[in-house]
Amino acid sequence: MSNIKVRGIIIKQSDFGERNRIVTIFTREYGIIRTVVYGAKSIKHKNSASTQFLCYADFILRDTGRDMMTFVSSDILESFFPVYEDIAKLSLCVYLADLIYSLINQNVPDNNILSLFLNTVYAICYKSIDNSVAKAVFELRVIAYAGYMPNLSHCTMCGKGEDIVAFSPKSGGILCKNCRSAGDFNINAEIYHAIRYILTSEEKKMFSFKASEEVMDEVIKIAESYAKTYNDKPLSSLDYYKKMSSL
Ligand SMILES: [Zn+2]
Repeated sequence: MSNIKVRGIIIKQSDFGERNRIVTIFTREYGIIRTVVYGAKSIKHKNSASTQFLCYADFILRDTGRDMMTFVSSDILESFFPVYEDIAKLSLCVYLADLIYSLINQNVPDNNILSLFLNTVYAICYKSIDNSVAKAVFELRVIAYAGYMPNLSHCTMCGKGEDIVAFSPKSGGILCKNCRSAGDFNINAEIYHAIRYILTSEEKKMFSFKASEEVMDEVIKIAESYAKTYNDKPLSSLDYYKKMSSL
């Protein structure tokens, strides 16, 4: 049995027996891993804060040779505590974490997606970014990082560069007026430029754009549809977030 040190953020937790908890950590070193925290449900457990959803920490885990490692201790770097004071923000973070869990394989590091998640949760927690904007930016970028960058340079069907009028999640990019079909999203230049900015800007500037409410409403719809197209598992946390944000 040996101990390992990993840096990561907790993206899921579930009960395991009466007293224990299984904590899923998205780590820099090993991607998504699951660990058992024995005695985690006891109020006196010394590690209760460090086994909470969104806790970002250096974790010491013990590799027991079984399929799950055992939690030993942690050194918290950031707990994103203010998210817990706002149910809409918290439910949004649960949905974003579920999307990652559903999109990427366990035990494979993906530091682009880890960094995107940390920066998005940071913005939701500490900056005045609208929840629905944070959600749209995350959805578009996470699907692109997962390998499905939409084609934004020319019509996805015929390759033409002019008369671009629509965006099609299913076709994976923009379409010209001859190739568009029912169910595609109409786009104008402003919508196109907002999507392009979101997908191509540096990560630290990904929320620094201005768009009118009408434009952003369309971008939000397109981003959600894009995420649903490339993540085929329905996520109940998305419905829950919507319910909580309409209160
Ligand atoms: Zn075309």
